[in-house]
Amino acid sequence: MKIDVLTLFPSMFEPVMSESMMWKARDRGLLDFQAHDIRGYAVDKHRTVDDSPYGGGGGMILKPDVLARAIEAVKADDQSPVILMSPQGRLLTHAVALELSRHARLILVCGRYEGIDERVRELAINDEISIGDYVLTGGELAAMVLIDAVLRQIPGLLGAEGAQDRDSHADGLGGLLEGPHYTRPAEFRGLGVPAVLTSGHHAEVDRWRRRQAIKRTWQMRPDLLARANLSDEDRAFLAQLMEDAGD
Ligand code: SAM
Repeated sequence: MKIDVLTLFPSMFEPVMSESMMWKARDRGLLDFQAHDIRGYAVDKHRTVDDSPYGGGGGMILKPDVLARAIEAVKADDQSPVILMSPQGRLLTHAVALELSRHARLILVCGRYEGIDERVRELAINDEISIGDYVLTGGELAAMVLIDAVLRQIPGLLGAEGAQDRDSHADGLGGLLEGPHYTRPAEFRGLGVPAVLTSGHHAEVDRWRRRQAIKRTWQMRPDLLARANLSDEDRAFLAQLMEDAGD
């Protein structure tokens, strides 16, 4: 996959893109990443990238000519989507990350200040993604979050093949949250490990994990249960949980 980011702060990406999974993806040739400096497309001697808004009001706006030139230069003749990181965009969910991971190339635009000129949005932006209902200072951190979430969906990238399909929100778990994990030692500060996990009964372990996922989702994000993929057995377990809690 190729990912191009347009930003006023390209150096913000280097530490993140050079570590852990991001580095592995680049090292294995699964990711071709480039951060492009929007300022490089400013033409005046001060390399101005922003201007005050028509109509007044606080804050500055990214100049349309500079940003449009940057997008056109990076995109060239390619048909890949140009995605604006924006608090007004569609929310980044597991489904959106999976959808974006199917593109061969993504071009991400990081806004700054009060945002970008509306005409660039109309002319050059194909999609807008938000990482949550809050406002960040710039799109760079949001772009890094998106890149991480998207790359995890690329087959062969993570160590344990297919493990990401059993993560919270993934299809393999039917949209539930993942249940608890334990590792050695068997006793830690007076707390043990559920006996089933050391029993060696794989079917029992799977059943326990499924039930823990249902329980965890019910406790932490009950809203997810409405669209989770639940079997009759899952539903019976959930009904029992609710009855036991007096719901
Ligand atoms: N004035 C804009 C508004 O109210 O919608 C907010 C601009 S924000 C201070 C500057 C830039 O940060 C945005 O152009 C966008 O690129 C990025 N940004 C802020 N919050 C974001 C979010 N929740 N998700 C993705 N990008 C975000």
